[in-house]
Amino acid sequence: MIIYVKKNTDQKQLDTLINWLESRGVEVHALSNGKSIILGLIGDTQNVDADLVNNLDCVSRVVKVKEPYKSSNRKFHPDDTVIDVCGVKIGGGNFTAIAGPCSVESTEQICAVAKAVKESGASILRGGAFKPRTSPYSFQGLRSKGIELLLEAKRLTGMPIVSEIMDIGSLPVFEHVDIIQVGARNMQNFELLKELGRTNKVILLKRGLANTLNEFLMSAEYIMSSGNQNVILCERGIRTFETATRNTLDISAIPLLKKMSHLPVIADPSHASGIASLVRPLALAAVSAGADGIMVEVHNDPEHALCDGPQSIRPDEFSSLMQDMLKVRNILYPQK
Ligand code: PEP
Ligand code: MN
Repeated sequence: MIIYVKKNTDQKQLDTLINWLESRGVEVHALSNGKSIILGLIGDTQNVDADLVNNLDCVSRVVKVKEPYKSSNRKFHPDDTVIDVCGVKIGGGNFTAIAGPCSVESTEQICAVAKAVKESGASILRGGAFKPRTSPYSFQGLRSKGIELLLEAKRLTGMPIVSEIMDIGSLPVFEHVDIIQVGARNMQNFELLKELGRTNKVILLKRGLANTLNEFLMSAEYIMSSGNQNVILCERGIRTFETATRNTLDISAIPLLKKMSHLPVIADPSHASGIASLVRPLALAAVSAGADGIMVEVHNDPEHALCDGPQSIRPDEFSSLMQDMLKVRNILYPQK
C-alpha cells in the first residue's frame, strides 16, 4: 500500500500517522517527491484499513500495490535509484561500463586487462575469483588469492571492483570488494540474499537462468527487505529452446524491469550469447533498450583463458564497442 500525504502536513501529524501504521504491524518507508510525502507500507497490510486512511485530512490518496515486490517497486520509489560506488554512479541516467575477465588468473592478466579497459572508458573492473562451474573438473577460480589480485588491480588503476560470492562463509574475503555479485545460479539462494541484505555492500544481482522477472524482483526484495537498498539488476540471458547461443538475451526485460522497478538495470551480453562476435550487437541492443550499463568479459588472450574464452572480447574490441555504445546512448538518450 502507498499513502500519499499532503505536502503541507506538519511533522507531528505525520509522525502520529506513521506510528499508528507501525502499530498495525507494517514497516513504513517515507520519501518526498516534491508534490507529496509518499509512505510505502511493507509487510502484511491487512490490518490497515485503506478507506479509513483515505479519509484522513492529511491524506490525498491511497494506492494498493498488488505486486508482491514492494521495496524494489517503482510505485514505492518513482525516481530512479542512483548507486554510488567510489564516485562511480550507476542508474538515474548515468551509463556505466563494467569490464574485465571472466576469472582472475594472474597479476599480469588482471592488471593488463584493468589498465586497457580503464583507458577505453570502463569505470568498474570485473573478475571472478570464486567460480560457479558446471563441471567440478573445470578451473574453480583462484578464490581468496583472486580477490587479492583484483585488489592489486584496483590499487593500480583506481577502479572499483566487482566479484562473485558463492557462499556467505566467504563474506570476510569480500571486505574491500566494492560490489558483490550474486550469480545467476545463486539468484534464489535466499539465505545468501538475506545475509547480503544485512551488509551495506552494493549487490549486483544477476537474473537466474530460468527465472521470471517477478521472481528476479522478489530476489532483490530479499536483499532490500533485510535492510540493504543497494541492488543493481543484471539481465544475463535466460535458457530457451535455442541452442545456437549459450542463453537468449531477453531484451524486453530491460525496459520492463525499468518500468517495474527503480533499481539500475544492466545487461551482460557475454553470458547471454557465449560467443565473442555476438557481444557487440547484443551490447548495442541493450544500450538501445535503455540499459543503465553493461557488464562485458574482456581478456587479453582469449584463446588461453581459463574460463569463458570463447565469449571474451579483446581490449581493442572493447575499446571500439565502448565508443559505439556511447554514440548510441547519446543519440537515443541525449538528455542523460
Ligand atoms: C559471471 O559473471 O562470471 C557469471 C558466472 O555469470 P552468470 O552468473 O550470469 O552465469
Ligand atoms: Mn564468465
